[in-house]
Amino acid sequence: MENKEKTNFIRNIIDEHNRTGRFDGKVHTRFPPEPNGYLHIGHAKSICLNFGIAEDYDGLCNLRFDDTNPAKEEEEFVHSIQKDIKWLGYDWEDRLYFASDYFPQMYEFAKELIRSGKAYVDSQSPAEIRENRGTVKESGKPSPYRNRSAEENLNLLERMKNGEFEEGEHVLRAKIDMSSPNMLMRDPLMYRIKKKAHHRTENEWNIYPMYDFAHCLEDSLEGITHSLCSIEFENNRPLYDWFLENLNIHHPQQIEFARLNLNYTVMSKRLLSRLIAENIVSGWDDPRLPTISGLRRRGYTPESIRNFCEKIGLAKRESIVDMALLEHTIREDLNKRANRVMGVLRPLKVIIDNFPEEEVDDLEAINNPEDETAGKRTIPFTKEIYIERTDFMENPPKKFFRLAPGREVRLRYAYFMKCEKVIKDKITGEIKELHCTIDPPSRGGRSPDGRKVKATLHWVSARFAIDTEIRLYENLFEVPNPAAEEDITDSINPNSLKILKNCKLELCTKNLPVQTKVQFERLGYFCKDDDSTAEHPVFNRTVTLRDVWKKIQKRNKK
Ligand code: ATP
Ligand code: MG
Repeated sequence: MENKEKTNFIRNIIDEHNRTGRFDGKVHTRFPPEPNGYLHIGHAKSICLNFGIAEDYDGLCNLRFDDTNPAKEEEEFVHSIQKDIKWLGYDWEDRLYFASDYFPQMYEFAKELIRSGKAYVDSQSPAEIRENRGTVKESGKPSPYRNRSAEENLNLLERMKNGEFEEGEHVLRAKIDMSSPNMLMRDPLMYRIKKKAHHRTENEWNIYPMYDFAHCLEDSLEGITHSLCSIEFENNRPLYDWFLENLNIHHPQQIEFARLNLNYTVMSKRLLSRLIAENIVSGWDDPRLPTISGLRRRGYTPESIRNFCEKIGLAKRESIVDMALLEHTIREDLNKRANRVMGVLRPLKVIIDNFPEEEVDDLEAINNPEDETAGKRTIPFTKEIYIERTDFMENPPKKFFRLAPGREVRLRYAYFMKCEKVIKDKITGEIKELHCTIDPPSRGGRSPDGRKVKATLHWVSARFAIDTEIRLYENLFEVPNPAAEEDITDSINPNSLKILKNCKLELCTKNLPVQTKVQFERLGYFCKDDDSTAEHPVFNRTVTLRDVWKKIQKRNKK
């Protein structure tokens, strides 16, 4: 089945295979994370690609944990990875595999290569092995152990496995070509001794397979047809092919594609875990991280991440994607689905002098102008309200059109309101509150006589306001490519997280479940935080309303 809309170079290869019948028209992919961290948006690209292609070609996609490296305490990662893939909307059904389950078969394959004279135990020291590999210009030197008999090799391998030797004493190598121009083909390592417990096989093994030997076998054993991996494995492909050819087993096609890079953040798990270990962020789900769980907590939807992966497309050459595109994608999505509410981040009290003390005026507001089915709600208007501190200036400069002494503005969905008096703290001089009057015929925010105002402000009734903590975010790093800095911690943006207490939200936000997304009018899209409680509500700002991406696009067109 061809999908003309989504054509890309990988689909072209698959279409060609289907024409020639290489895999009998089957498409079977896999997503093979190493359980040594949480998934990030780069992984999402690979997930969307692997599961997406399987879906489009009526094929299958496996989830396989590439846990060939012994390490303990991976359970948290195994769990979080599954949760994140499901959240993104993909399903491996009953095809959940662990590479470590194949250790016995891999071992048999290794013995087979020994028997056919294509693998040997090398007893040079690690330094000697490195030294004798040669350089790009010079051929390597064959190991003095290269021509050991199959019998001796089998015996040594068995004893390596049983733990009779120390780390570094021996390794198993493929016997390929010590003068190959591709350094990876110069008798690459297949097994090394590691006397470490594994989270699944525990102390059963004292040798562990190297990636290049293990990965192709995993793919082959699972009947994978197209093994999609990132571009840094291009030089490993001849080795991938060599093992499968020499074992004469099912041979998937490895295809490489460019990794996703995003500016103003880091993506490698090594760097991410460092930020967590050093408490620079609060954990793998810190909303400033590009992890799937961080993005979810920040307010990103699965649809927006999938759309993003679609938009960035697929290439062979690496590039850096602008963070503004990711933000544009969530804005686009939330614009359609998030209800509008009013919230005041930095409250300034306003007293309406000509409004009765006890009265509550229920005004009508539209929940989402982009979605008629979202309906309407009522918002209570009362004598005391809050407006945004930044929406008032006592001595406004020319271009400031919002509230000022003697000036009239519109309160959203409510009234035209005029500022009559400014009350200040006698000692500090800080503005404490404003006294204003409303024009009753302007109820609903409509001009009663055609007169115009230059600004519409959001507001919240003081009596019905919900006290809320709000967290505002900026990029975690101040430089576009933090990984290129000498030390990533030098370029942390000190304003990456700003916590505002005592923000005032509209009453209707009170019982929203966590993870609910709303637009605070004029301020951005926000998401109720996972740790939010009725006593202590917390919202995270996902993005502001300013679409930087659209501006970049316009500028590029000019
Ligand atoms: P990291 O360097 O972030 O630790 P990794 O490649 O070591 O990444 P794995 O768990 O081994 O992480 O990756 C699982 C799959 O996800 C691999 O097939 C890998 O190619 C893919 N992948 C990882 N990072 C990216 C990325 N930035 N863009 C696209 N695919 C990626
Ligand atoms: Mg890795």
